[in-house]
Amino acid sequence: MADRNFRSILTGSFSTPCGDNPTVAMIEAAYRHAGIDARYINCDVKAENLAAAVAGAVAMEWVGFNCSLPHKVAVIKHLDELAQSARIIGAVNCVSIRDGRLIGNNTDGKGFLASLQSVTDPAGKRVLVLGAGGAARAIAVELGLAGAKHLTVTNRDPDKARTIAALVADNTPCGAEVMAWDGEISVAEGTDIVINATSIGLGDAQALPPIRLETLRRGMVVADVIPNPPMTHLLRKAGAQGCTVLDGLGMLVNQGVIGVELWLGRKLDSGVMQRTLQEIFGVSD
Ligand code: NDP
Repeated sequence: MADRNFRSILTGSFSTPCGDNPTVAMIEAAYRHAGIDARYINCDVKAENLAAAVAGAVAMEWVGFNCSLPHKVAVIKHLDELAQSARIIGAVNCVSIRDGRLIGNNTDGKGFLASLQSVTDPAGKRVLVLGAGGAARAIAVELGLAGAKHLTVTNRDPDKARTIAALVADNTPCGAEVMAWDGEISVAEGTDIVINATSIGLGDAQALPPIRLETLRRGMVVADVIPNPPMTHLLRKAGAQGCTVLDGLGMLVNQGVIGVELWLGRKLDSGVMQRTLQEIFGVSD
């Protein structure tokens, strides 16, 4: 009895609303599988309570937390240090706490990259990114840092695409340009990887980004960030045309793996996480 330890390692997430965030189920299943006595607490933190929540995590000696909307930029002023890509992206979604010091990371792009690397190495590749929101920004920066040769960013609002292209060109060795997205766009010949980083397809298995499907060619990798439903209309069409497809579940799972590695220095089982999410989303392999 004397040597039993009733104190769990504490991790979690700060966002609002938080009720539909399945990360807690995914990470706690992997903690259990690994026999780690740790908890992941999904906390609803309103914008005006972020400072108190961060101070609370430090006071209770949490080892780290994720933060999602609306805290990804606001949390930065509460941190002591930023990792390279988080600094370039200008947003943090994963904080580790070591000896009371708070270190900000961005795992959105890193999670995508880890998932992409399961099918191809982006180094030297030409990439088309659809969308220019937070996910696109993180993915674009990580691809640039991972040695992608050239990035084309296209977005309904072209100013946001210009901002991301400039960020990549200024901070990584990757060339970057903007393509207008008026009506249906064509994928240029020589493109190796196409990424849908818009929210088109979220919760809608029939939604399709306006793109000329015949320009998706055999041998291309077509990736989607949409986690639910994972097999989007775009991926179904691309797969039917001989492209290698990559769904958004892998990005979500790898973000979990990378976050826990930052907090605990332990690599959790991605298969357990993947199966937990598939069960929640009602999909099979
Ligand atoms: P943002 O709101 O920051 O960006 C949304 C993007 O989608 C913008 O580029 C927006 O264009 C574009 N968009 C939305 N609707 C349309 C439309 N009808 N036509 C053309 N473009 C459209 O969101 P995030 O970047 O944070 O997230 C994007 C998606 O990525 C979400 O669906 C989210 O679920 C998913 N995601 C997945 C993750 C994972 O781990 N799998 C992690 C993070 C996000 P515009 O700028 O012109 O409005």
